Amino acid sequence: MVAVLKQNATTEQIDNLTKWLEGRGLSVHISKGESYTILGLIGDTTQIDTELLEGLEMVDSVKRVSEPFKSANRKFHPEDSIIEIGDLKIGGPHFQMMAGPCSVESAEQILSIAKSVSASGAAILRGGAFKPRSSPYDFQGLKADGIELLLEAKKQTGMPIVTEIMNANHLPMFEQVDVIQVGARNMQNFELLKELGMIRKPILLKRGLASTLQELLMSAEYIMAGGNRNIILCERGIRTFETYTRNTLDLSAVPMLRELTHLPVVIDPSHATGAARLVKPMAMAAAAAGAHGLIIEVHNDPQNALCDGAQSLTPEQFADVAKNVRRIREVIAE
Ligand code: PEP
Ligand code: MN
Repeated sequence: MVAVLKQNATTEQIDNLTKWLEGRGLSVHISKGESYTILGLIGDTTQIDTELLEGLEMVDSVKRVSEPFKSANRKFHPEDSIIEIGDLKIGGPHFQMMAGPCSVESAEQILSIAKSVSASGAAILRGGAFKPRSSPYDFQGLKADGIELLLEAKKQTGMPIVTEIMNANHLPMFEQVDVIQVGARNMQNFELLKELGMIRKPILLKRGLASTLQELLMSAEYIMAGGNRNIILCERGIRTFETYTRNTLDLSAVPMLRELTHLPVVIDPSHATGAARLVKPMAMAAAAAGAHGLIIEVHNDPQNALCDGAQSLTPEQFADVAKNVRRIREVIAE
């Protein structure tokens, strides 16, 4: 349920109303916009008399929110959320490119890729240290050593880093990681999501291989219910009957999610297509559709990459994609 307050509602009135609602077992999320204040009421609202609430002097209108996701719902928070990553911002008018290898492989590899993608406009360095692989016999990542190498690349380039967590017990290793990624396979690992709700670091939450947008938003809700509101959603392709591409990029997820939620939405055209040559058109289309960012796999030697070489761009190809994405951004800003 949301209560939209009148413009002249005083702080004292808002405090009194909040206390009254909390006394009824609800948690109250206050969203102060430029011209209005919205109270988001979370919990069992069935015993709240909407007419009584609407009758209060400072209340303008009351609406029941039918969607099961509350904190992530745009009705609770009409303005876009802007997530801070160090000095960077993502969401609203702020667009960011994240780039780097699927997996961190060595100090030279991660550092040289970091330097080149940074020079061509990526603000955030990606790299997997703990890799969720379909086969237990495939390279599983450099684990803690991979995180150390990412931190060294961060130190040398100043780029914040994003890397995937697979187990909440590993959280101490992620202390200096700027953005924690929850991969597609863990989108519904609810115990992991609850643990990530207890911290305040930004979380890049990827859509599951066969998950609906509502399920993605409910997973965001798990994190937000714990108090962590710093969530970036990521569409990375879903399973369909199509086999020419690794997955099918659901580009309509961008405008749909932007309607449903205030959280930023980024696109991963690498895992969505599985083919390097398809990354540029999909990255440009994502920018045109209103995505708040992109996460793209880049490798200095894609043919010999330990993971996802076929979909990895060379640094030169990434520079070309970044340039064209900037052009699209300029056009849609006009
Ligand atoms: C990745 O980003 O390397 C990754 C494994 O992504 P996803 O979870 O989307 O498959
Ligand atoms: Mn990958």
